[in-house]
Amino acid sequence: KNVLLTGGTGFIGKILTELLIANGFSVSILSRSVKQNHTDISYFQWDVDSGTIDEEAILKADYVIHLAGENIGAKRWTASRKKAVLDSRVKSIKLLYTCLKLNNKKLDGFISASGVGIYGAITDEQLCDETTSPAHDFLGTVCQEWESATIPIHDLGIRTVQIRTGLVLGKEDGVLKQLAPLFRYKLGSVIGTGKQYMPWIHIDDLCQIYLKAILDSTMQGPFNAAVNDKTTNTIFSESLAKVFGYSIWLPKVPAFVLQLVLGEMAQLVLKGRRVSSDKIEKTGFQFQYTDLEKALRNCL
Ligand code: NDP
Repeated sequence: KNVLLTGGTGFIGKILTELLIANGFSVSILSRSVKQNHTDISYFQWDVDSGTIDEEAILKADYVIHLAGENIGAKRWTASRKKAVLDSRVKSIKLLYTCLKLNNKKLDGFISASGVGIYGAITDEQLCDETTSPAHDFLGTVCQEWESATIPIHDLGIRTVQIRTGLVLGKEDGVLKQLAPLFRYKLGSVIGTGKQYMPWIHIDDLCQIYLKAILDSTMQGPFNAAVNDKTTNTIFSESLAKVFGYSIWLPKVPAFVLQLVLGEMAQLVLKGRRVSSDKIEKTGFQFQYTDLEKALRNCL
């Protein structure tokens, strides 16, 4: 069976590609630029803004995993950046939908990334599950529109799944790539009050969830993909410091400093929420990494 990955060249996509190939799938990647340096992968091109897509990618696919999107934490959230973050996720799904519909193409599943940011910033103990209402802030709105864009695909009779992803911990990229240099030089510290929750997941577990979403045809709708623990920014920062062999000595980074530097995007690190992993665990999925320190040591 063939799996088409959009955004397959990114942090999650690269590891997921290896896992899919190891499990006997053929993998195609839909990218803005065609790379042909990997013989096991077929590369296809698209341009979301102009609405062009190499239809062959869709025609040969049995499953689509939609990971493509402008990196949410890469640049300040100006109005044009916000539009790019939203459009790259939503217009891309619409383009895939149009291609499926025009070709009367059926898939065995359409699995899309989403984020735990859908629940907004909740500072109390509330545990968000998949029935919790989406927030109305920027991230909540993006995630909601991202997920809603899959409804027309579902209406074509295709099983759709949304993976509401927490902070992904991996070896070569993601949040640890940004934080590790700071903590390696013993300069990392707690951010804001430090009480904000930071739902996290190890990249290997996340890729196993995507694999399960392909193999398990009973999976349908949204699933939180984050360990259900009580990791706050203080716990996360202290664990990271411990892995680098020191105890945090610097004062907390005040919220206003981050707001000055990052603008509205500061909410990515200043705000959080706790999420439940019950729904994914009820499918029989078991996390390999539930201990934060063990996950960090594996990545670093
Ligand atoms: P990356 O930023 O590493 O990769 C995303 C890929 O999307 C890129 O490789 C790129 O592929 C493609 N892309 C970027 N901009 C555009 C655009 N304007 N139009 C079309 N394609 C574009 O992301 P991750 O692998 O980290 O994440 C994958 C998905 O999971 C994302 O949607 C992300 O929001 C979500 N997620 C990730 C989390 C994390 O901690 N990493 C947490 C929560 C959700 P190419 O250059 O080949 O076109």
